[in-house]
Amino acid sequence: MQNAFDLIVIGSGPAGRRAAIQAAKLDKNVLVVEKSHRVGGVSVHTGTIPSKTLRETVLNLSGWRERGFYGRTYKVKSDITANDLRHRLSKTLDHEVDVLEHQFTRNNVTMINGHARFLSRQEVEVALPDGRVQQVKFERALISVGTKPYRPDYVPFNGTTVLDSDEILNIADLPRSLTVIGAGVIGIEYATIFSALDISVTVIEPRSSILSFIDDELIDEFTYELRDRGIKLLLGCKAQNVHAFDGHCIVDLSDGRKVKSEMVLYAAGRLGASTDIGLDAIGLDADSRGRLKVDPVTFETDVPNIYAAGDIIGFPSLASTSMSQGRIAVCHAFQVPNPAQPEHFPYGIYAVPEISTVGLSERELKEQGIPYECGVARFRETSRGHIMGLQRGMLKLLFHIETRKLLGVHIVGEGATELIHIGQAVLVLGGELSYFIDNVFNYPTLAEAYKIAALDAWNRLSLHGDATIQTAATDLAVVNG
Ligand SMILES: Cc1cc2nc3c(=O)[nH]c(=O)nc-3n(C[C@H](O)[C@H](O)[C@H](O)COP(=O)(O)OP(=O)(O)OC[C@H]3O[C@@H](n4cnc5c(N)ncnc54)[C@H](O)[C@@H]3O)c2cc1C
Repeated sequence: MQNAFDLIVIGSGPAGRRAAIQAAKLDKNVLVVEKSHRVGGVSVHTGTIPSKTLRETVLNLSGWRERGFYGRTYKVKSDITANDLRHRLSKTLDHEVDVLEHQFTRNNVTMINGHARFLSRQEVEVALPDGRVQQVKFERALISVGTKPYRPDYVPFNGTTVLDSDEILNIADLPRSLTVIGAGVIGIEYATIFSALDISVTVIEPRSSILSFIDDELIDEFTYELRDRGIKLLLGCKAQNVHAFDGHCIVDLSDGRKVKSEMVLYAAGRLGASTDIGLDAIGLDADSRGRLKVDPVTFETDVPNIYAAGDIIGFPSLASTSMSQGRIAVCHAFQVPNPAQPEHFPYGIYAVPEISTVGLSERELKEQGIPYECGVARFRETSRGHIMGLQRGMLKLLFHIETRKLLGVHIVGEGATELIHIGQAVLVLGGELSYFIDNVFNYPTLAEAYKIAALDAWNRLSLHGDATIQTAATDLAVVNG
Protein backbone atom coordinates (compact mmCIF):
# COMPACT_ATOMS: atom_id res chain seq x y z
CA MET A 1 0.00 0.00 0.00
CA GLN A 2 1.23 3.51 -0.80
CA ASN A 3 1.96 5.74 2.19
CA ALA A 4 0.60 9.15 1.08
CA PHE A 5 -3.01 10.02 0.28
CA ASP A 6 -5.03 13.08 -0.76
CA LEU A 7 -7.61 12.16 1.87
CA ILE A 8 -7.53 9.86 4.84
CA VAL A 9 -10.88 8.96 6.38
CA ILE A 10 -10.88 7.58 9.91
CA GLY A 11 -13.96 5.41 10.43
CA SER A 12 -16.15 3.73 7.81
CA GLY A 13 -19.61 4.63 9.13
CA PRO A 14 -22.09 6.68 7.08
CA ALA A 15 -20.05 9.92 7.27
CA GLY A 16 -16.75 8.25 6.38
CA ARG A 17 -18.02 6.06 3.61
CA ARG A 18 -19.96 8.85 1.87
CA ALA A 19 -16.95 11.15 2.18
CA ALA A 20 -14.62 8.52 0.75
CA ILE A 21 -16.85 7.84 -2.26
CA GLN A 22 -17.31 11.57 -2.90
CA ALA A 23 -13.53 12.12 -2.84
CA ALA A 24 -12.97 9.13 -5.14
CA LYS A 25 -15.51 10.59 -7.57
CA LEU A 26 -13.34 13.72 -7.58
CA ASP A 27 -10.39 11.51 -8.62
CA LYS A 28 -8.67 11.79 -5.27
CA ASN A 29 -6.52 9.16 -3.69
CA VAL A 30 -8.47 7.99 -0.65
CA LEU A 31 -7.62 5.77 2.28
CA VAL A 32 -10.28 4.62 4.74
CA VAL A 33 -9.01 3.27 8.06
CA GLU A 34 -11.48 1.16 10.04
CA LYS A 35 -10.59 -0.43 13.35
CA SER A 36 -13.40 -2.99 13.29
CA HIS A 37 -12.82 -6.05 11.16
CA ARG A 38 -15.78 -5.14 8.91
CA VAL A 39 -16.71 -1.83 7.26
CA GLY A 40 -19.95 0.02 7.99
CA GLY A 41 -19.58 1.55 11.46
CA VAL A 42 -22.16 1.69 14.20
CA SER A 43 -24.79 2.22 11.55
CA VAL A 44 -24.32 -1.21 9.99
CA HIS A 45 -23.14 -3.28 12.93
CA THR A 46 -24.74 -2.11 16.16
CA GLY A 47 -27.06 0.83 15.40
CA THR A 48 -29.34 1.77 12.55
CA ILE A 49 -29.47 -1.35 10.41
CA PRO A 50 -29.47 -4.00 13.17
CA SER A 51 -32.16 -2.23 15.19
CA LYS A 52 -34.32 -1.73 12.12
CA THR A 53 -33.81 -5.33 11.03
CA LEU A 54 -34.74 -6.53 14.49
CA ARG A 55 -37.86 -4.37 14.35
CA GLU A 56 -38.88 -5.77 10.97
CA THR A 57 -38.31 -9.35 12.12
CA VAL A 58 -40.30 -8.80 15.30
CA LEU A 59 -43.20 -7.20 13.42
CA ASN A 60 -43.25 -10.03 10.89
CA LEU A 61 -42.88 -12.98 13.26
CA SER A 62 -45.20 -11.57 15.90
CA GLY A 63 -47.89 -10.77 13.33
CA TRP A 64 -48.05 -7.30 14.86
CA ARG A 65 -49.40 -5.63 11.73
CA GLU A 66 -52.27 -8.11 11.53
CA ARG A 67 -53.42 -7.79 15.13
CA GLY A 68 -55.87 -5.04 14.21
CA PHE A 69 -57.86 -7.75 12.46
CA TYR A 70 -57.10 -10.90 14.32
CA GLY A 71 -56.76 -9.63 17.91
CA ARG A 72 -53.95 -9.01 20.36
CA THR A 73 -53.05 -12.65 20.81
CA TYR A 74 -52.48 -13.30 17.09
CA LYS A 75 -48.96 -14.50 16.23
CA VAL A 76 -47.34 -15.71 13.01
CA LYS A 77 -44.80 -17.81 14.95
CA SER A 78 -45.77 -18.95 18.41
CA ASP A 79 -42.37 -19.48 19.98
CA ILE A 80 -40.14 -16.64 18.85
CA THR A 81 -36.55 -17.08 20.04
CA ALA A 82 -33.47 -14.86 20.09
CA ASN A 83 -32.10 -17.17 17.40
CA ASP A 84 -35.01 -16.32 15.08
CA LEU A 85 -34.17 -12.65 15.49
CA ARG A 86 -30.42 -13.13 14.91
CA HIS A 87 -30.94 -15.19 11.76
CA ARG A 88 -32.33 -12.34 9.67
CA LEU A 89 -29.92 -9.89 11.29
CA SER A 90 -26.77 -11.66 10.15
CA LYS A 91 -28.08 -12.06 6.61
CA THR A 92 -28.98 -8.37 6.35
CA LEU A 93 -25.66 -7.23 7.77
CA ASP A 94 -23.67 -9.49 5.44
CA HIS A 95 -25.52 -7.98 2.51
CA GLU A 96 -24.90 -4.40 3.70
CA VAL A 97 -21.17 -5.05 4.18
CA ASP A 98 -20.99 -6.66 0.76
CA VAL A 99 -22.53 -3.62 -0.91
CA LEU A 100 -20.18 -1.26 0.94
CA GLU A 101 -17.04 -3.22 0.13
CA HIS A 102 -18.09 -3.37 -3.49
CA GLN A 103 -18.64 0.40 -3.53
CA PHE A 104 -15.13 0.98 -2.20
CA THR A 105 -13.58 -1.43 -4.71
CA ARG A 106 -15.50 0.00 -7.67
CA ASN A 107 -14.40 3.51 -6.76
CA ASN A 108 -10.76 2.61 -6.04
CA VAL A 109 -10.98 3.55 -2.39
CA THR A 110 -8.18 1.89 -0.41
CA MET A 111 -9.36 0.23 2.82
CA ILE A 112 -7.21 -0.76 5.73
CA ASN A 113 -8.21 -2.52 8.91
CA GLY A 114 -6.55 -0.93 11.94
CA HIS A 115 -6.70 1.73 14.63
CA ALA A 116 -5.72 5.20 13.36
CA ARG A 117 -4.06 7.82 15.55
CA PHE A 118 -2.73 11.22 14.48
CA LEU A 119 1.03 11.73 14.76
CA SER A 120 0.89 15.25 13.35
CA ARG A 121 -1.28 17.44 11.12
CA GLN A 122 0.05 15.55 8.07
CA GLU A 123 0.53 12.01 9.34
CA VAL A 124 -1.33 9.18 11.06
CA GLU A 125 -0.14 5.84 12.32
CA VAL A 126 -2.31 2.80 11.88
CA ALA A 127 -2.01 -0.05 14.40
CA LEU A 128 -2.73 -3.15 12.32
CA PRO A 129 -4.44 -6.25 13.78
CA ASP A 130 -1.19 -8.29 13.45
CA GLY A 131 0.67 -5.86 15.72
CA ARG A 132 2.51 -3.95 13.01
CA VAL A 133 2.24 -0.18 12.81
CA GLN A 134 2.10 1.71 9.54
CA GLN A 135 2.64 5.44 9.00
CA VAL A 136 0.56 7.23 6.36
CA LYS A 137 0.86 10.84 5.19
CA PHE A 138 -2.18 12.82 4.12
CA GLU A 139 -3.14 16.18 2.58
CA ARG A 140 -6.56 16.26 4.19
CA ALA A 141 -8.26 14.15 6.83
CA LEU A 142 -11.80 13.44 7.92
CA ILE A 143 -12.45 12.28 11.48
CA SER A 144 -15.60 10.16 11.39
CA VAL A 145 -15.02 7.89 14.36
CA GLY A 146 -18.58 8.04 15.67
CA THR A 147 -19.63 7.15 19.21
CA LYS A 148 -19.82 4.28 21.68
CA PRO A 149 -22.43 3.57 24.36
CA TYR A 150 -22.02 5.48 27.63
CA ARG A 151 -21.49 2.96 30.45
CA PRO A 152 -21.75 4.58 33.90
CA ASP A 153 -19.94 2.94 36.83
CA TYR A 154 -23.11 2.26 38.81
CA VAL A 155 -24.42 -0.15 36.18
CA PRO A 156 -22.96 -3.70 36.50
CA PHE A 157 -22.87 -4.54 32.78
CA ASN A 158 -22.41 -8.29 32.40
CA GLY A 159 -23.21 -8.95 28.74
CA THR A 160 -26.10 -11.29 29.59
CA THR A 161 -28.74 -9.61 31.77
CA VAL A 162 -27.46 -6.02 32.14
CA LEU A 163 -26.63 -4.71 28.71
CA ASP A 164 -25.89 -1.65 26.62
CA SER A 165 -27.44 -1.04 23.20
CA ASP A 166 -24.59 -2.82 21.38
CA GLU A 167 -24.92 -5.96 23.50
CA ILE A 168 -28.71 -6.26 23.27
CA LEU A 169 -28.28 -7.54 19.70
CA ASN A 170 -26.45 -10.64 20.91
CA ILE A 171 -28.69 -11.94 23.68
CA ALA A 172 -28.92 -15.71 23.90
CA ASP A 173 -32.51 -15.81 25.17
CA LEU A 174 -35.42 -13.40 25.11
CA PRO A 175 -36.34 -12.14 28.59
CA ARG A 176 -39.90 -12.25 29.93
CA SER A 177 -39.45 -8.74 31.32
CA LEU A 178 -37.16 -5.86 30.40
CA THR A 179 -36.30 -2.56 32.08
CA VAL A 180 -35.01 0.14 29.76
CA ILE A 181 -33.06 2.98 31.38
CA GLY A 182 -33.32 6.09 29.18
CA ALA A 183 -36.26 7.17 27.04
CA GLY A 184 -34.26 8.71 24.21
CA VAL A 185 -34.68 7.47 20.65
CA ILE A 186 -32.66 4.28 21.17
CA GLY A 187 -34.33 3.39 24.48
CA ILE A 188 -37.82 3.98 23.12
CA GLU A 189 -37.14 2.04 19.93
CA TYR A 190 -35.96 -1.04 21.80
CA ALA A 191 -38.65 -0.73 24.50
CA THR A 192 -41.43 -0.78 21.90
CA ILE A 193 -39.80 -3.49 19.76
CA PHE A 194 -39.50 -5.85 22.76
CA SER A 195 -43.01 -4.97 23.88
CA ALA A 196 -44.29 -6.08 20.46
CA LEU A 197 -42.98 -9.55 21.45
CA ASP A 198 -45.32 -9.41 24.46
CA ILE A 199 -42.35 -8.91 26.77
CA SER A 200 -43.29 -6.83 29.81
CA VAL A 201 -41.38 -3.54 29.46
CA THR A 202 -40.68 -0.73 31.96
CA VAL A 203 -39.00 2.50 30.85
CA ILE A 204 -37.21 4.76 33.36
CA GLU A 205 -36.52 8.38 32.44
CA PRO A 206 -35.49 11.29 34.70
CA ARG A 207 -37.25 13.88 32.54
CA SER A 208 -40.99 14.28 32.90
CA SER A 209 -41.63 13.62 29.20
CA ILE A 210 -40.14 11.58 26.40
CA LEU A 211 -38.71 12.64 23.03
CA SER A 212 -39.20 16.32 23.86
CA PHE A 213 -38.01 17.46 20.40
CA ILE A 214 -41.14 15.95 18.83
CA ASP A 215 -44.49 17.77 18.53
CA ASP A 216 -46.39 17.47 21.85
CA GLU A 217 -49.65 16.20 20.33
CA LEU A 218 -47.79 13.39 18.58
CA ILE A 219 -46.08 12.41 21.82
CA ASP A 220 -49.44 12.42 23.64
CA GLU A 221 -50.82 10.06 21.01
CA PHE A 222 -47.68 7.90 21.14
CA THR A 223 -47.48 7.62 24.94
CA TYR A 224 -51.19 6.85 25.14
CA GLU A 225 -50.64 3.92 22.80
CA LEU A 226 -47.58 2.70 24.72
CA ARG A 227 -49.43 2.76 28.05
CA ASP A 228 -52.51 1.23 26.48
CA ARG A 229 -50.53 -1.84 25.52
CA GLY A 230 -48.94 -2.18 28.92
CA ILE A 231 -45.55 -0.45 28.67
CA LYS A 232 -44.82 1.15 32.04
CA LEU A 233 -43.38 4.64 31.63
CA LEU A 234 -41.75 5.73 34.88
CA LEU A 235 -41.02 9.37 34.10
CA GLY A 236 -39.48 12.00 36.38
CA CYS A 237 -37.36 9.50 38.33
CA LYS A 238 -33.78 8.37 38.02
CA ALA A 239 -32.23 4.92 38.08
CA GLN A 240 -29.81 5.07 41.01
CA ASN A 241 -28.55 1.53 41.28
CA VAL A 242 -28.78 -1.63 39.27
CA HIS A 243 -28.33 -5.06 40.89
CA ALA A 244 -27.96 -8.25 38.89
CA PHE A 245 -29.00 -11.44 40.72
CA ASP A 246 -29.32 -14.98 39.50
CA GLY A 247 -32.38 -14.89 37.24
CA HIS A 248 -33.47 -11.31 37.84
CA CYS A 249 -32.32 -7.69 38.15
CA ILE A 250 -33.48 -4.89 40.45
CA VAL A 251 -33.24 -1.20 39.59
CA ASP A 252 -33.46 1.24 42.53
CA LEU A 253 -35.20 4.49 41.64
CA SER A 254 -34.51 7.96 43.04
CA ASP A 255 -38.06 8.13 44.45
CA GLY A 256 -37.53 5.00 46.54
CA ARG A 257 -39.30 2.55 44.25
CA LYS A 258 -37.71 -0.61 42.85
CA VAL A 259 -38.23 -2.25 39.47
CA LYS A 260 -37.71 -5.98 38.97
CA SER A 261 -37.12 -7.57 35.56
CA GLU A 262 -35.17 -10.37 33.94
CA MET A 263 -33.07 -8.00 31.86
CA VAL A 264 -31.93 -4.37 31.96
CA LEU A 265 -30.99 -2.32 28.91
CA TYR A 266 -29.02 0.83 29.66
CA ALA A 267 -29.63 3.24 26.78
CA ALA A 268 -29.01 6.67 28.24
CA GLY A 269 -26.42 8.35 26.10
CA ARG A 270 -23.39 7.80 23.91
CA LEU A 271 -19.87 9.24 24.00
CA GLY A 272 -17.75 10.42 21.08
CA ALA A 273 -15.01 7.88 20.25
CA SER A 274 -12.30 10.54 20.35
CA THR A 275 -10.21 9.44 23.32
CA ASP A 276 -7.63 7.43 21.44
CA ILE A 277 -7.12 9.16 18.11
CA GLY A 278 -4.18 11.45 18.98
CA LEU A 279 -6.11 14.73 19.18
CA ASP A 280 -3.25 16.30 21.15
CA ALA A 281 -0.89 15.70 18.23
CA ILE A 282 -3.03 17.97 16.05
CA GLY A 283 -3.94 20.50 18.74
CA LEU A 284 -7.64 19.67 19.01
CA ASP A 285 -9.75 19.13 22.12
CA ALA A 286 -12.98 17.21 22.55
CA ASP A 287 -15.79 18.36 24.87
CA SER A 288 -16.82 16.46 28.00
CA ARG A 289 -18.87 14.03 25.88
CA GLY A 290 -15.98 13.35 23.53
CA ARG A 291 -17.41 15.46 20.71
CA LEU A 292 -15.48 17.72 18.34
CA LYS A 293 -16.32 21.28 17.33
CA VAL A 294 -16.53 22.10 13.62
CA ASP A 295 -17.59 24.93 11.35
CA PRO A 296 -21.31 24.13 10.96
CA VAL A 297 -21.27 24.92 7.24
CA THR A 298 -18.04 23.29 6.05
CA PHE A 299 -17.35 20.74 8.83
CA GLU A 300 -13.74 21.89 9.07
CA THR A 301 -12.25 21.72 12.57
CA ASP A 302 -10.06 24.48 13.98
CA VAL A 303 -7.17 22.78 12.17
CA PRO A 304 -7.22 23.66 8.47
CA ASN A 305 -7.68 20.60 6.25
CA ILE A 306 -8.82 18.39 9.10
CA TYR A 307 -12.56 17.86 9.05
CA ALA A 308 -15.00 15.99 11.29
CA ALA A 309 -18.45 14.68 10.45
CA GLY A 310 -21.10 12.32 11.76
CA ASP A 311 -21.87 11.52 15.38
CA ILE A 312 -18.47 12.73 16.55
CA ILE A 313 -19.69 16.33 16.08
CA GLY A 314 -22.94 15.71 18.00
CA PHE A 315 -26.44 16.80 17.01
CA PRO A 316 -28.37 15.48 15.14
CA SER A 317 -26.41 12.20 15.26
CA LEU A 318 -28.27 10.39 12.53
CA ALA A 319 -26.92 8.12 9.82
CA SER A 320 -28.88 10.17 7.29
CA THR A 321 -27.34 13.52 8.26
CA SER A 322 -23.89 11.98 8.80
CA MET A 323 -23.79 10.92 5.14
CA SER A 324 -24.63 14.38 3.95
CA GLN A 325 -22.05 15.96 6.30
CA GLY A 326 -19.30 13.65 5.00
CA ARG A 327 -20.04 14.62 1.43
CA ILE A 328 -20.19 18.37 2.17
CA ALA A 329 -16.89 18.21 4.10
CA VAL A 330 -15.10 16.56 1.18
CA CYS A 331 -16.52 19.03 -1.37
CA HIS A 332 -15.21 21.88 0.78
CA ALA A 333 -11.87 20.17 1.33
CA PHE A 334 -11.27 19.89 -2.42
CA GLN A 335 -12.74 23.29 -3.32
CA VAL A 336 -15.72 21.87 -5.15
CA PRO A 337 -18.87 24.00 -4.72
CA ASN A 338 -20.33 22.38 -1.66
CA PRO A 339 -24.01 21.81 -1.24
CA ALA A 340 -25.40 23.49 1.87
CA GLN A 341 -26.89 21.40 4.67
CA PRO A 342 -30.62 21.53 4.09
CA GLU A 343 -32.56 23.73 6.49
CA HIS A 344 -35.10 20.96 7.05
CA PHE A 345 -34.28 17.29 7.42
CA PRO A 346 -36.61 14.57 8.63
CA TYR A 347 -36.35 12.67 11.89
CA GLY A 348 -37.35 9.04 11.84
CA ILE A 349 -37.95 7.18 15.08
CA TYR A 350 -38.44 3.52 14.32
CA ALA A 351 -40.40 2.72 17.41
CA VAL A 352 -43.56 0.62 17.24
CA PRO A 353 -45.42 2.69 16.10
CA GLU A 354 -43.09 4.80 13.97
CA ILE A 355 -42.77 8.56 14.39
CA SER A 356 -41.48 10.93 11.77
CA THR A 357 -41.36 14.66 11.62
CA VAL A 358 -40.00 17.49 9.48
CA GLY A 359 -40.15 21.26 9.90
CA LEU A 360 -41.49 23.16 12.89
CA SER A 361 -43.64 21.79 15.70
CA GLU A 362 -46.60 23.65 17.20
CA ARG A 363 -44.48 24.53 20.21
CA GLU A 364 -41.75 26.05 18.02
CA LEU A 365 -44.30 28.03 16.00
CA LYS A 366 -45.77 29.46 19.19
CA GLU A 367 -42.31 30.32 20.55
CA GLN A 368 -41.43 32.09 17.30
CA GLY A 369 -44.78 33.90 17.11
CA ILE A 370 -45.60 32.48 13.67
CA PRO A 371 -49.36 32.45 12.94
CA TYR A 372 -50.34 28.90 12.01
CA GLU A 373 -53.28 26.60 11.60
CA CYS A 374 -53.20 22.82 11.61
CA GLY A 375 -54.97 19.99 9.88
CA VAL A 376 -55.12 16.44 11.21
CA ALA A 377 -55.94 13.11 9.60
CA ARG A 378 -56.31 9.78 11.35
CA PHE A 379 -55.14 6.71 9.44
CA ARG A 380 -58.41 5.00 10.28
CA GLU A 381 -60.11 7.63 8.07
CA THR A 382 -58.27 6.31 5.00
CA SER A 383 -59.43 3.31 2.98
CA ARG A 384 -55.89 1.97 3.04
CA GLY A 385 -56.02 2.14 6.83
CA HIS A 386 -59.21 0.05 6.80
CA ILE A 387 -57.63 -2.52 4.52
CA MET A 388 -54.60 -2.74 6.80
CA GLY A 389 -56.70 -2.89 9.95
CA LEU A 390 -55.11 0.26 11.38
CA GLN A 391 -56.81 1.61 14.46
CA ARG A 392 -54.23 4.21 15.28
CA GLY A 393 -51.89 6.61 13.51
CA MET A 394 -52.21 10.27 12.71
CA LEU A 395 -50.74 12.83 10.37
CA LYS A 396 -50.67 16.50 11.23
CA LEU A 397 -49.86 19.39 8.90
CA LEU A 398 -49.07 22.93 10.02
CA PHE A 399 -49.62 25.86 7.63
CA HIS A 400 -48.88 29.58 7.83
CA ILE A 401 -52.21 31.40 8.27
CA GLU A 402 -51.35 34.19 5.83
CA THR A 403 -49.17 32.55 3.18
CA ARG A 404 -50.70 29.05 3.47
CA LYS A 405 -47.17 27.69 3.21
CA LEU A 406 -46.47 24.31 4.78
CA LEU A 407 -44.43 24.76 7.98
CA GLY A 408 -44.31 21.31 9.53
CA VAL A 409 -45.35 17.69 9.09
CA HIS A 410 -45.73 15.31 12.02
CA ILE A 411 -46.69 11.67 11.68
CA VAL A 412 -47.09 8.79 14.10
CA GLY A 413 -48.15 5.38 12.85
CA GLU A 414 -47.54 2.77 10.20
CA GLY A 415 -45.22 3.96 7.41
CA ALA A 416 -44.51 7.34 9.05
CA THR A 417 -40.81 7.29 8.13
CA GLU A 418 -41.63 6.81 4.43
CA LEU A 419 -44.70 9.05 4.30
CA ILE A 420 -42.76 11.99 5.71
CA HIS A 421 -40.85 12.48 2.46
CA ILE A 422 -43.94 13.74 0.64
CA GLY A 423 -44.29 16.49 3.22
CA GLN A 424 -40.55 17.10 3.21
CA ALA A 425 -40.55 17.73 -0.56
CA VAL A 426 -43.45 20.16 -0.34
CA LEU A 427 -41.89 21.94 2.64
CA VAL A 428 -38.41 22.28 1.14
CA LEU A 429 -39.82 23.46 -2.20
CA GLY A 430 -41.86 26.14 -0.41
CA GLY A 431 -45.20 24.48 -1.24
CA GLU A 432 -48.58 25.47 0.08
CA LEU A 433 -51.87 23.99 1.19
CA SER A 434 -53.22 23.99 -2.38
CA TYR A 435 -50.64 21.36 -3.41
CA PHE A 436 -52.38 18.74 -1.30
CA ILE A 437 -55.89 19.84 -2.20
CA ASP A 438 -55.44 20.21 -5.95
CA ASN A 439 -53.32 17.14 -6.69
CA VAL A 440 -54.64 13.64 -7.15
CA PHE A 441 -53.18 10.98 -4.84
CA ASN A 442 -53.12 7.25 -5.48
CA TYR A 443 -56.07 5.54 -3.85
CA PRO A 444 -56.19 3.69 -1.56
CA THR A 445 -52.99 4.83 0.16
CA LEU A 446 -51.94 6.08 3.57
CA ALA A 447 -50.60 9.12 1.68
CA GLU A 448 -54.23 10.09 1.24
CA ALA A 449 -53.98 11.24 4.87
CA TYR A 450 -52.11 14.29 3.50
CA LYS A 451 -55.18 15.29 1.53
CA ILE A 452 -57.52 14.68 4.46
CA ALA A 453 -55.29 16.71 6.81
CA ALA A 454 -55.01 19.51 4.22
CA LEU A 455 -58.78 19.63 3.84
CA ASP A 456 -59.11 19.78 7.61
CA ALA A 457 -56.63 22.69 7.65
CA TRP A 458 -58.52 24.35 4.78
CA ASN A 459 -61.72 24.24 6.80
CA ARG A 460 -59.98 25.83 9.79
CA LEU A 461 -58.21 28.42 7.63
CA SER A 462 -61.46 29.42 5.97
CA LEU A 463 -62.61 30.59 9.41
CA HIS A 464 -59.94 33.26 9.23
CA GLY A 465 -62.12 35.04 6.64
CA ASP A 466 -59.58 34.90 3.86
CA ALA A 467 -61.00 33.21 0.79
CA THR A 468 -57.69 33.22 -1.08
CA ILE A 469 -57.82 29.53 -1.83
CA GLN A 470 -59.88 28.87 -4.88
CA THR A 471 -59.69 25.24 -5.76
CA ALA A 472 -61.85 22.72 -7.45
CA ALA A 473 -61.85 20.81 -4.20
CA THR A 474 -63.42 23.56 -2.15
CA ASP A 475 -66.76 21.82 -1.85
CA LEU A 476 -65.03 18.62 -0.91
CA ALA A 477 -63.16 20.49 1.80
CA VAL A 478 -66.36 21.74 3.32
CA VAL A 479 -67.89 18.29 3.11
CA ASN A 480 -64.84 16.82 4.80
CA GLY A 481 -65.25 19.22 7.70
C1 LIG B 1 -29.32 1.62 18.30
C2 LIG B 1 -29.15 2.73 17.30
C3 LIG B 1 -30.14 2.95 16.36
C4 LIG B 1 -29.99 3.96 15.41
N1 LIG B 1 -30.98 4.16 14.48
C5 LIG B 1 -30.85 5.13 13.55
C6 LIG B 1 -31.83 5.32 12.54
O1 LIG B 1 -32.83 4.62 12.52
N2 LIG B 1 -31.65 6.26 11.61
C7 LIG B 1 -30.53 7.07 11.60
O2 LIG B 1 -30.41 7.93 10.71
N3 LIG B 1 -29.57 6.92 12.55
C8 LIG B 1 -29.71 5.97 13.51
N4 LIG B 1 -28.73 5.80 14.46
C9 LIG B 1 -27.57 6.68 14.46
C10 LIG B 1 -26.53 6.23 13.44
O3 LIG B 1 -26.15 4.90 13.64
C11 LIG B 1 -25.34 7.15 13.55
O4 LIG B 1 -25.80 8.47 13.39
C12 LIG B 1 -24.29 6.85 12.51
O5 LIG B 1 -23.84 5.53 12.58
C13 LIG B 1 -23.11 7.79 12.68
O6 LIG B 1 -22.22 7.57 11.65
P1 LIG B 1 -20.70 7.99 11.74
O7 LIG B 1 -20.21 7.99 10.35
O8 LIG B 1 -20.55 9.20 12.56
O9 LIG B 1 -19.93 6.84 12.51
P2 LIG B 1 -20.23 5.40 13.07
O10 LIG B 1 -21.31 4.73 12.34
O11 LIG B 1 -20.36 5.54 14.53
O12 LIG B 1 -18.89 4.65 12.69
C14 LIG B 1 -17.65 5.08 13.19
C15 LIG B 1 -16.60 4.05 12.79
O13 LIG B 1 -15.32 4.56 13.13
C16 LIG B 1 -14.53 3.48 13.58
N5 LIG B 1 -13.42 4.02 14.38
C17 LIG B 1 -13.51 4.64 15.58
N6 LIG B 1 -12.30 5.03 16.00
C18 LIG B 1 -11.43 4.62 15.04
C19 LIG B 1 -10.02 4.72 14.89
N7 LIG B 1 -9.26 5.35 15.79
N8 LIG B 1 -9.43 4.17 13.79
C20 LIG B 1 -10.20 3.55 12.84
N9 LIG B 1 -11.54 3.43 12.94
C21 LIG B 1 -12.14 3.97 14.01
C22 LIG B 1 -15.49 2.63 14.37
O14 LIG B 1 -15.01 1.29 14.48
C23 LIG B 1 -16.74 2.72 13.52
O15 LIG B 1 -16.78 1.68 12.58
C24 LIG B 1 -28.84 4.78 15.42
C25 LIG B 1 -27.83 4.56 16.37
C26 LIG B 1 -27.98 3.54 17.31
C27 LIG B 1 -26.88 3.31 18.31
